[in-house]
Amino acid sequence: MKCRHCDHQLEYIFLDLGYAPASNAYLSKEDLGAPETTFPLKIYVCDQCWLVQTKDYADADELFSADYAYFSSTSQSWLQHAASYTEKITKRLKLEKNSFVIEVASNDGYLLKNFIATGIPCLGVEPTDSTADAAEKMGVPVLREFFGVATAVALAEGGKSADLICGNNVYAHVPDINDFTQGLRIALKEGGTVNLEFPHLMRLIEQNQFDTIYHEHFSYLSLTVVSRIFAQAGLRVFDLEELPTHGGSLRIYGCHDRDSRAMEPVVLEMLEREKAFGLQDLSVYRGFQQKANKVKNDFIGFLVEQKRKGKSVSAYGAAAKGNTLMNYAGIKNDLIDFVCDAAPSKQGRFMPGSHIPILSPAELANHKPDWVVILPWNFADEIIEQQQQVLSWGGKFIIAVPELRVLT
Ligand SMILES: [Zn+2]
Repeated sequence: MKCRHCDHQLEYIFLDLGYAPASNAYLSKEDLGAPETTFPLKIYVCDQCWLVQTKDYADADELFSADYAYFSSTSQSWLQHAASYTEKITKRLKLEKNSFVIEVASNDGYLLKNFIATGIPCLGVEPTDSTADAAEKMGVPVLREFFGVATAVALAEGGKSADLICGNNVYAHVPDINDFTQGLRIALKEGGTVNLEFPHLMRLIEQNQFDTIYHEHFSYLSLTVVSRIFAQAGLRVFDLEELPTHGGSLRIYGCHDRDSRAMEPVVLEMLEREKAFGLQDLSVYRGFQQKANKVKNDFIGFLVEQKRKGKSVSAYGAAAKGNTLMNYAGIKNDLIDFVCDAAPSKQGRFMPGSHIPILSPAELANHKPDWVVILPWNFADEIIEQQQQVLSWGGKFIIAVPELRVLT
């Protein structure tokens, strides 16, 4: 197997999470009796360019990039994040009615609607029909394609070069990261800016966030490796911000390599911090399995203890993170009775692998569980605030990552 970026032979395993189905392969009741396809969930680190990546399966990329039908607008805090970003970047880049903004993976228009509201022309690139439909209903124009060199060339030839290209949580999900990055350079106007947000690998390691690993998440990124991928594509990073989203993300600012803007000191500082942390040292990567195993063992221990005490445990948030944790820990519905999710498209279905039933959050009041495990720990505050009812019957909230912790 070769590195997705530099083509070097991959030899070193960062994490082996056993076998798991695609994290979005939710099951119907009828599916439960049928065999289920699982794939090894094994993550490698390239000792040449330090890209951490999933194993590349010849025919599986397409499967793993399949329609999530996740609507960004369902999270209130994410909507606020998008609105404040729009305000900030509009001021910083002095965007106005003659500017042009492209968002890659524009989802349901949660971000671009803010540009539309201020009269700044924009275009979303989004291959998923259901979310693209929702965006167009709000007046956001959408090009229904995957982004890469071919799309970028067509946009540039059509006079649609961008003053700003943004991509929130798409970079890590792109199978061909070189093609995608070259596309960014081609679609970017002279003097334009690229903003990408992605979960920061340094935080993933520091905070034991192994549950953010799943097949559809191809790359785990640091500034070190992104700078390198950018350089090869004719781009460079000139500024960055650290964000609290997704357990700790980076928002990088990129431009053409010949752009006159100076590199902000924070970029070199972060490269130094990553080096000091050990991101160019195999031992840091190879020590991660033990950290993940401890989280898993503590969680299983807790669930078994509650079962022995006759306490009931349910979970909240049937997202990819939860599927990784459940499948790695081998947890089934004998230890967790059900998981609640606000998305009607998941209710009545079952988690892939673990077969834990997914119910509406309204069911919490009917079952009154003693414990509610919050699987998307990055939204814990928001979920606790919405589900205060749990406290009324003496129920408690808990998270498993970065360590087992009672929250209320
Ligand atoms: Zn490499």
